[in-house]
Amino acid sequence: MSKFYVIATPIGNLGDITFRAISILKSVDLILCEDTRETKKILDKYEISALTMSYHAHSKLAKVDKIFAFLKEGKDLALVSDAGTPGISDPGAMLVSKIKEHFNNQIKVIPIPGATALITALSASGLPTHEFTFLGFLPHKKGRETLFKEIRDAKRTMVFYESPHRILKTLESLIKFCPDKKVCIARELTKIYEEFKTGTPLEILEYFNKNPDKQRGEFVIIVA
Ligand code: SAM
Repeated sequence: MSKFYVIATPIGNLGDITFRAISILKSVDLILCEDTRETKKILDKYEISALTMSYHAHSKLAKVDKIFAFLKEGKDLALVSDAGTPGISDPGAMLVSKIKEHFNNQIKVIPIPGATALITALSASGLPTHEFTFLGFLPHKKGRETLFKEIRDAKRTMVFYESPHRILKTLESLIKFCPDKKVCIARELTKIYEEFKTGTPLEILEYFNKNPDKQRGEFVIIVA
């Protein structure tokens, strides 16, 4: 029976991959990558020479049929995204669901755990982690205000992803909706300029305005 592995890869530091992930990536017949050029960096580093094929958010249904055909032939496949865990604000969830449905659970879908930015951020944030809600990326327009109201009213820690283009706008919204909440911004996790900044939304906005170079990179926002 074919196996379909969902494999977490690093979120910055290429050392953050498990022995098991490397050994499975070496053994599979094909690796499905969000972006084959991005995945090549990790494959080259660990001398993994498996075949790759792209599978991303805009892949057509024909690609899914092709993946089904490989699985019917008895091939073992691995799915990776550009960074972190596939399916977490990344492609993969829909494909896994289709595989389970199409093969009536006859194909084993096996997760290979590893890095994910939200858990990495929470673990060193110093904010409460016993209960939290992950919101993914906030919508740009419709529903955005509703989510800020949810964040304002939340009784548990709220975690979401943000792009550098919207980080200031998001802090301004947090100032408007929940000025007194404690916020932690985890930036460039596992990379050279990794940084955790904690304070009220206003304190953090002032910090970013004073240090425009810190507005670059990748961010996880945690609101206690
Ligand atoms: N699948 C990934 C995971 O498991 O975390 C998330 C992919 S999502 C497309 C990319 C977003 O995750 C970034 O915009 C950022 O918000 C967050 N992220 C990914 N890597 C990060 C890092 N090294 N530091 C901070 N945030 C990161």
